[in-house]
Amino acid sequence: MLGLVKKIFGDQNEREVKRLQRTVDEINAMESKFTGLSDEALRAKTEEFKARLEKGETLDQLLPDAFATVREASKRTLGMRHFDVQLMGGMALHEGKIAEMRTGEGKTLVGTLPVYLNALLGKGVHVVTVNGYLAQRDSEIMGKVYEFLGLTVGCNLHGLSHDEKQAAYACDITYGTNNEFGFDYLRDNMVLYKEQMVQRPLYYAIIDEVDSILVDEARTPLIISGQAAKSTELYFAADRFVGKLKEEEDFTIDIKVKSVMLTEAGVEKAEKAFHIENLFDHANVLLNHHIQQALKANFIMKRDVDYVVQEDEVVIVDEFTGRLMAGRRYSDGLHQAIEAKEQLKVQNESMTLATITFQNYFRMYRKLAGMTGTAKTEEEEFKRIYGLEVIQVPTNRTMIRKDIADVVYKTENGKFKAVVEEIVQRHAKNQPVLVGTISIENSEKLSDMLMRKGISHKVLNAKFHAEEAEIISRAGQAGAVTIATNMAGRGTDILLGDGVADLGGLHIVGTERHESRRIDNQLRGRAGRQGDPGSSQFYLSLEDELMRRFGSENIMGMMDRLGLDDDQPIESRMISRAIESAQKRVEGNNFDVRKVVLQYDDVMNQQREVIYKQRRDILGSENIRQEVMDMIKPVIERIVEAHCAEDIPEEWDLQAIVDYANATFLEEGSLTVGEIERKEKEDIVEYIFNKVVAAYDVKEEQLGAETMREFEKVVVLRAVDSKWMDHIDAMDQLRQGIHLRAYGGTDPLREYQFEGFEMFKEMIEHIQEEVAKYIMKARVENNLERQEVAKGQTSTTSGGGEAQEKRPVKREERVGRNDACPCGSGKKYKQCHGK
Ligand code: ADP
Ligand code: MG
Repeated sequence: MLGLVKKIFGDQNEREVKRLQRTVDEINAMESKFTGLSDEALRAKTEEFKARLEKGETLDQLLPDAFATVREASKRTLGMRHFDVQLMGGMALHEGKIAEMRTGEGKTLVGTLPVYLNALLGKGVHVVTVNGYLAQRDSEIMGKVYEFLGLTVGCNLHGLSHDEKQAAYACDITYGTNNEFGFDYLRDNMVLYKEQMVQRPLYYAIIDEVDSILVDEARTPLIISGQAAKSTELYFAADRFVGKLKEEEDFTIDIKVKSVMLTEAGVEKAEKAFHIENLFDHANVLLNHHIQQALKANFIMKRDVDYVVQEDEVVIVDEFTGRLMAGRRYSDGLHQAIEAKEQLKVQNESMTLATITFQNYFRMYRKLAGMTGTAKTEEEEFKRIYGLEVIQVPTNRTMIRKDIADVVYKTENGKFKAVVEEIVQRHAKNQPVLVGTISIENSEKLSDMLMRKGISHKVLNAKFHAEEAEIISRAGQAGAVTIATNMAGRGTDILLGDGVADLGGLHIVGTERHESRRIDNQLRGRAGRQGDPGSSQFYLSLEDELMRRFGSENIMGMMDRLGLDDDQPIESRMISRAIESAQKRVEGNNFDVRKVVLQYDDVMNQQREVIYKQRRDILGSENIRQEVMDMIKPVIERIVEAHCAEDIPEEWDLQAIVDYANATFLEEGSLTVGEIERKEKEDIVEYIFNKVVAAYDVKEEQLGAETMREFEKVVVLRAVDSKWMDHIDAMDQLRQGIHLRAYGGTDPLREYQFEGFEMFKEMIEHIQEEVAKYIMKARVENNLERQEVAKGQTSTTSGGGEAQEKRPVKREERVGRNDACPCGSGKKYKQCHGK
């Protein structure tokens, strides 16, 4: 059926390939022209292309000339002339697609074509690899081509200093790992001065082994975390302190907006109790905040009305429906303050300072492309989630690898014995064998068995990239036996040793089918590169994970009927097909899961974009006075709105407005009820706002404009950062708890989106209030240094290697005290975030 459809409409991929072939012909036709150029003339092409771009030509128009130039430069520097199919791959990448090209087709070299072309724009091109070893290797080797043509190349490795990183990113082309690019992005959005950023705006990325990064690791979050220093104890201290205060004398309650404010006497008591000079100084932000929340917890929040205590946890009660909001926590430290009030264990707070998934990081590039040997099976996912189309590029030489039908054993032991037997036999003939396992545990088991047979071999676990690359590059030598997990030695070319072709080339043994066909194909793909002979076979057992979970009953029945015992395999195409359809089902399920997760991630992703953009705007602008004013005004509007409900002025609570305004942004006693009586709502807002502006002007007059400008940034950055970090945590809690809300058919995703939005709005309000309060109340001279809101950062990410585990998360080593601070300030860690 499918065959017929293909015949009528023509194969889509075939048509694409034909289309690309036309440009290939064009490039080939002018080859002699380029061969004749001197080195200088060839190098001068770069300037010529840039000039043509200036004049309005497009990259597409330049493509044939540019590709021909790169090919010629590669011939002269590396001694490699791009094959026609490599030109096709390069075009696919330039078009922002995924080029599916088999292992050994030379994808690294393919990259040089679109990289060079796009780098001409001067906006930076990133080439992303799965490990640092590959980034270094590729940047060094391919760098020769770019440098010959007058472009600069950098390699962004883990552990570079701030200046080195900045230099690497300033290059026309930057190689690096997905981890490093992602972490730099997060760190850039935590800096306090614009100069501390290392990245330029994300423009074009080409991802090598794109399936492993955008599918297998798509959901892996990159996390930068910090410690909320001894704040738990502070909640209790604040709780004890407010317990001694008297209403009216030390604080006033505004029940309508649910806020409690210290009076001047209250502030004095706090300063005495905690031995500090000014409660509103930077150094005391945390304490001030804790006191605020303790006041709220004690005098506003009522047990069994606003919340209940269940199994030593504070659970919020929805004020409208009365239902319990499992998993949701009050933000901004209020939840912890209530826990202190109730003498419960205070849950640790704000550990995550910044986080992003690879999926979301890479979607920020203006243009994205990828290459891999295995993409077609995930075509729909690439298309739907990243808008990436897959083009299958033909191989340079015909592939002659023999993929032998699977053999299936009843038990795992039977299977492993057979695998060892197979290795022994091939080894006796000196044929090299590469065995793939899906776990380190299985690698070790097999290694033991081979040891007992006296067969020397190597085991690779994707831990030491450089060493393993070295080992795997020799896996094709006569007599070699190599055991490797999926990611081990990926990206390394396996050349056949002398005479090995006559032995049948490299033989691949798979010891288990993976959930995804793609991973199996990668394993097979290590043999039969560039027309080499080779073969592959999978050994399975009914005890394998995939077989136990899916469709093994049929097969089991069949084996029983045949009366087979442990050591007797069955080998049949039918079983292979059954397994393949089980894999298809699992792939489908996994895709569904990833889609849902993406929808959850989208909520935070949009919010992060808003916050990071604002942050960048602040860092980048000279003067944010207007922005500060725009933050103060809504605070006034909200307080007026809250106390002027309905249009019945007699019932308006003007005293409350006055108290709030004096406590928050004016001096005690500077605003009186008399001043705002008999006014319209809008006029009240305007009146108070003008008063604030006047006070602001006085402050600015005293300090000088320059100081005021810096002070504004200090206050705003600190408010944005601290509230945002609280928010990340609160959203995480919400997400973890949302599934407990499966009442009355609510859709947890909808619920999460809705509440997430509400919480974001709340956070914005908190930021505005905090800015209003500090900008007006803090003493400037003590507050002119921009400060990080958390200390002791660590970067966390997935294991990087075996990405198929369920969201593996591993801690990277801590930063040493004398190391450069990971925030990129250029200072030592101990003098910066490690203080
Ligand atoms: P892939 O990433 O597609 O598996 P690599 O980029 O690792 O392949 O390249 C495989 C091998 O082929 C490397 O040794 C590389 O030097 C070689 N190679 C690639 N392209 C060419 C070419 N056009 N001519 C000669 N050798 C090439
Ligand atoms: Mg490669």
